[in-house]
Amino acid sequence: MKRRLMAPSIPVIDRRTFLAGAGATAGIAMTAPALTGRAFGQTRRWPQNPFSLGVASGAPVADGFVLWTRLAPNTLSADPALPGGMTPEPVEIGYEIATDAEMRGIVQRGTAVADPAFAHSVHLDVKGLSPGRPYWYRFTSGDAVSRRGLARTAHAPGTPLDRLRLAVASCSNYEHGYFAAYRHLADEHPDFVLFLGDYIYEYAAKRPRTRVHSDGVEAVTLPGYRNRYAQYRLDPDLQRVHAEATALITWDDHEVQNDYADQWSQTFDDPQVFLKRRAAAYQAFYEHMPIRASLLHPAGPAMRIYDRFAFGNLAEIAMLDGRQYRSREACYGPPRKGGGHVESNSACPERLEPQRTMLGAQQETWLYDGLAQSKARWNILAQDVMMAQLRQTAADGEVRFWTDDWNGYPAARGRLLQHIHDSHVANPVVLTGDIHSFWTNDLKLDFDDASSPVVATEFVGTSISSDGPSYTTFSRYLPDNPHVRFFESRTRGYMTIDVTPERMTTQYRGITDVTDPAATVLTLKSFAVENGKAGAVEA
Ligand code: FE
Ligand code: CA
Repeated sequence: MKRRLMAPSIPVIDRRTFLAGAGATAGIAMTAPALTGRAFGQTRRWPQNPFSLGVASGAPVADGFVLWTRLAPNTLSADPALPGGMTPEPVEIGYEIATDAEMRGIVQRGTAVADPAFAHSVHLDVKGLSPGRPYWYRFTSGDAVSRRGLARTAHAPGTPLDRLRLAVASCSNYEHGYFAAYRHLADEHPDFVLFLGDYIYEYAAKRPRTRVHSDGVEAVTLPGYRNRYAQYRLDPDLQRVHAEATALITWDDHEVQNDYADQWSQTFDDPQVFLKRRAAAYQAFYEHMPIRASLLHPAGPAMRIYDRFAFGNLAEIAMLDGRQYRSREACYGPPRKGGGHVESNSACPERLEPQRTMLGAQQETWLYDGLAQSKARWNILAQDVMMAQLRQTAADGEVRFWTDDWNGYPAARGRLLQHIHDSHVANPVVLTGDIHSFWTNDLKLDFDDASSPVVATEFVGTSISSDGPSYTTFSRYLPDNPHVRFFESRTRGYMTIDVTPERMTTQYRGITDVTDPAATVLTLKSFAVENGKAGAVEA
């Protein structure tokens, strides 16, 4: 069995710490070369549960997945030198993977190192499992045992698969309400859950609402971002989603700062200063997410998170990064145009410039190549911000466009949709977060031409808890946007997606009241895309 250390180099282990743990390895198979044969720490008695943040699985492939945990006995430790209440030594922890929920049929067992350089998080890259099935797992450390998690491998690329059940979440603002939507999402037992960004919110509300961020200040440093992730992950509903469903994850802006674009902050910070903040935010994201250490290890202010996942012959999902490589907001400048704002073509011709990019050249090439080569029946692009054109026509007749989503990058959108059209990508579907509302959109080569072909379908999920935009205001724009087939901003919730070879069915699931932890859930609307026919029909 291969195990992966989560840092490129393991910090030198303090001799005293090592000796304290020597000879205390009973019952744990040893596979840690850097720690010369002794699972120190296995006799540790924890005064508080070190697995307070739970467990998570992600990045599914046919023979494995990433298993995550983080040691944090004093979860919201205010001491930046002791994240999670942990002193800065590496700790070796045990893990077990079984074929049954009772953990009787153990198929892998070993150790992994919780690295103090990454807040004692573990990103265990598990290989050698069977495709397309569930496994159960848990971690151990001394006298502590984590909760049990369920993780799924993917079906091997190209092999027959007749059904895939996904759930899609975005925008969970802790201060705006309870995470009942996460609880209902977990209750549906999806095969995989997609997180499309705004998993945390970096700012703190001036006037506290339903709940408050524990430190009450905007996250700008590594301890601040760590604290934010830890508080969110203490939520029992969110923690349960991760324990019970294997995740595919990308980010949006609030994992760093509202409406940032690459190195440009909405508050006009010096890019060199802002990149340090971004590096801290990216590192905290890495430390709390079940993402691949091999592909995604943070290096300086950059961190690659875009990735591709295959599910048999049925679907490929590209998880895109719409923040790290994008061009600056069009017509950026103080005092107010730091983040998203609306612009008309006459006032801001920069928005239309052909070289503007949402994904960056490298990711764009990677995406186009992957789409052109895919043999999957369904090709899903999961990403942060709305792709469909949205004309915001004011009372004076002036048409404006929001600069922070793909409407700020129309040339890049045009390139992508033209590529999808030209390379005959099978059943392209875009899944989107960010805008805190449900949308069903036809994606067209030319949104202003009624006869232009529909080349892809977009489903936008509402927020788990974040406030929605004005229903009245946006409803007024709809007559001028006939490719928008559905819009609803008054409900918080998530999407469930049922994929079969014949059709993809998306349900918009809405909770009754975000201020009620016991809120119930109902289906607001269902749409289907039939195999071979872009565009959704009501189901
Ligand atoms: Fe959001
Ligand atoms: Ca956002």
